[in-house]
Amino acid sequence: MLHKVIIANRGEIALRILRACKELNIKTVAIYSTVDKNLQHVFLADETICIGSPDPKDSYLNIPAIISAAEITASTAIHPGYGFLSENANFAEQVEKSGFIFIGPTASNIKLMGNKILAINTMKQMGIQCILGSSYLSLDDMKKNISIANNIGYPLIIKSAYGGGGQNMYIVHNDKDLIFSLNCIKTKEKIINNHDSIYIEKYLDNPRHIEIQIMADNYGNVITLYERDCSIQRRYQKIIEEAPVFNINNSLLNNIKNKCIEVCAAINYRGVGTFEFLYKDDMFYFIEMNTRIQVEHTVTEMITGIDIVKEQLLIAFGQPLSIKQHEINILGHAIECRINAEDSNKFIPSAGTINYFHPPGGLGIRWESHIYAGYKVPIYYDSMIGKLICFGKNRDIAVLRMKNALSELIIDGIDTNIQFINSIIHNSYFQQQGTFNIKYL
Ligand code: ADP
Repeated sequence: MLHKVIIANRGEIALRILRACKELNIKTVAIYSTVDKNLQHVFLADETICIGSPDPKDSYLNIPAIISAAEITASTAIHPGYGFLSENANFAEQVEKSGFIFIGPTASNIKLMGNKILAINTMKQMGIQCILGSSYLSLDDMKKNISIANNIGYPLIIKSAYGGGGQNMYIVHNDKDLIFSLNCIKTKEKIINNHDSIYIEKYLDNPRHIEIQIMADNYGNVITLYERDCSIQRRYQKIIEEAPVFNINNSLLNNIKNKCIEVCAAINYRGVGTFEFLYKDDMFYFIEMNTRIQVEHTVTEMITGIDIVKEQLLIAFGQPLSIKQHEINILGHAIECRINAEDSNKFIPSAGTINYFHPPGGLGIRWESHIYAGYKVPIYYDSMIGKLICFGKNRDIAVLRMKNALSELIIDGIDTNIQFINSIIHNSYFQQQGTFNIKYL
């Protein structure tokens, strides 16, 4: 069957999906908001449709508009990318009910693993260690919440079952903090999700963030593509990711990877996905699963040579995995830096026209971005405007290449975090592999 894919996203991931489709000879349809008509993938797609105004709820979150676009263009499938509707089980369900292929897991996979509390329960049932925590808190019963919190013991972290890119999380040290924070998020949470989805768990001091990439087809084949260290974070948001990880015992890693494979097999998981863990004192604690392609999939691609987005498309179109576990080798080390349109000192998002742009290049350098000279960064979306990925046969070479690449990268006209990233890469502590944790910054 000849396929045509709706790219239901924007920015660098939309371009990434378009390139993977082209390699597979699949036609593409770019859907975009009025402010995004000058995005690179919109110029390069076979067909384009403007689906609404810049506010995401009118465009990239507008399910009827996206499904109508698929109908009008006689598309066969929809790729949600990351963010927006990528982990929305209702969207996945509506896409499939409307006769299109959802390029991602089944709606029931997303329902089960996209909700952190349900995912934690599933993992516990499979014998995987999770952080001591609660089920849903009732935002209207503070007395009960205080009792739950004291049973677990402070410090605690308040989280949303639906995540949110490191937002909506509050660390609390006592009952007063707890009440204050719950009251703060009460209104916000109800507006965002229209239902309560708050829970608490023990706050771990100085863990590392380690995650495992998996890939599963419709025929019971599940593989892992090794692991990533995403401990360099600012306000719980990843900034620098790398693969493979260092200073973790191989048998511990193999054990947790095998467990992830077992879970995928047990729940009939389909597509690509990531199991996220906090790692401390030789223990892995599951925190959540991302049932979609992740920003940092690129470092895994660099160290394995496998095109994860292409595999994702092939799985969705009913093909078996093209690689077997024993065929995957680690070819070297890769580091990714997220380049954001934000001031390097105060981290205030920046928008406006890029008047000069010079990308880095050379052996082992990969630049994934939608920007170009003359491109206007809009105010409406995530501030990430590019990903710089450097690969080398070992970490020292990857770091060296990152230093050189950062010195070549020029983005003028808007504020960026390049200077901030540069200071991390040049820091001697960062350069000692596997020594940092989520508190590094
Ligand atoms: P989100 O889905 O919003 O990204 P996550 O559950 O993935 O949230 O957590 C994001 C980051 O927050 C983690 O990588 C870690 O740095 C921090 N974090 C989350 N839970 C805990 C915890 N229980 N203890 C310490 N840090 C945590």
